[in-house]
Amino acid sequence: MIVNTCGFIDAAVEESLDAIGEALAENGRVVVTGCLGAKEGVVAKVHPAVLAITGPHDTEGVMQAVHQHLPKPHDPYIDLVPPQGIKLTPRHYAYLKISEGCNHRCTFCIIPSMRGDLVSRSIAQVMQEAENLVKAGVKELLVISQDTSAYGVDVKYRTGFWQGRPLKTRMTELCRALGELGVWVRLHYVYPYPHVDEVIPLMTAGKIVPYLDVPFQHASARILRLMKRPASAEKVLQRIRGWREICPDITIRSTFIAGFPGETESEFAELLAFLEEAQLDRVGCFAYSPVEGAAANALPDPVPETVKEERRARFMALQARISAAKLQRKVGKTLKVLIDQPGIGRSSADAPDIDGVVHFKGGKAGEFADVLIQRADEHDLHGRRL
Ligand code: SF4
Repeated sequence: MIVNTCGFIDAAVEESLDAIGEALAENGRVVVTGCLGAKEGVVAKVHPAVLAITGPHDTEGVMQAVHQHLPKPHDPYIDLVPPQGIKLTPRHYAYLKISEGCNHRCTFCIIPSMRGDLVSRSIAQVMQEAENLVKAGVKELLVISQDTSAYGVDVKYRTGFWQGRPLKTRMTELCRALGELGVWVRLHYVYPYPHVDEVIPLMTAGKIVPYLDVPFQHASARILRLMKRPASAEKVLQRIRGWREICPDITIRSTFIAGFPGETESEFAELLAFLEEAQLDRVGCFAYSPVEGAAANALPDPVPETVKEERRARFMALQARISAAKLQRKVGKTLKVLIDQPGIGRSSADAPDIDGVVHFKGGKAGEFADVLIQRADEHDLHGRRL
């Protein structure tokens, strides 16, 4: 039996508690949901025998509890799908999509017009999927979305339930909960909101991987304004310094656009100066591409193709030097790697497909290994498995 409750005024609480009591007396197997469910302690104190307590709007939580205590009848069409779903990545890592769409309107991007505004998945559903993946052997969860740090904004950070306890639909709380699963958790597409700072201590504490993929796009205040992005390179540098103070091992990945409409040589030079100062670990740079429908296409003074490409190449050459020097500093250290295939693994600093790798001899896909780093090139490390 599912009892939907109200907890608005005392009389409603009493009535809800009575209804739960009646259901327990009549049926004995009761799942509580609704507003009073948010005050889990009140229900549990009076009725410790209920099977589960979930909160308002927590359909998934209710369904999970129901399925846990009343297994679904066999359905030959869907029962062949494993609990972790069907995924295209190797067995040992998986992408965990937490939301769809985006509330920003960056002028170079058409994602919001295609995917709409942000819609967050329920935290119960996300955590259930994460748990299923871990049970199925996944060792690394890559949290993805269009805007990871906005998770829950659309549902006003609604409280959901996981393993019977309340959990807010919010990036920090999600990271904390994912950090309990005992696998690598890596954050991608983190828009630089102020509250991103909250997850850095979780990295220092080893709860999630010390890796932040945070697209900055540019450094010139005028270009950032034209892009409709947060516009202060100085503040970004300050924040990066702060993150590194709290978590010295943090790997920061970012992406940038060279040759945005109207970008002058001196504004591009500002970007290079920012890059030199920020000493980011991993960087991607795209020459501005006028995607059909993007507002930026209407901006004056488009940069000629050859200049865009030339700027991108200068940007990447500078980053290659920074990256090589940073990797060089890892020589002599022992790094924990997750093995993707015999002889190739990734440390906490390397996301699959987009970052470098660690080369060594032997090993088995999906296992962790300690590798003593002996040599570095521009993007990869080479070492010996201990
Ligand atoms: S670039 Fe990212 S943050 Fe900006 S509108 Fe597109 S999806 Fe949203």
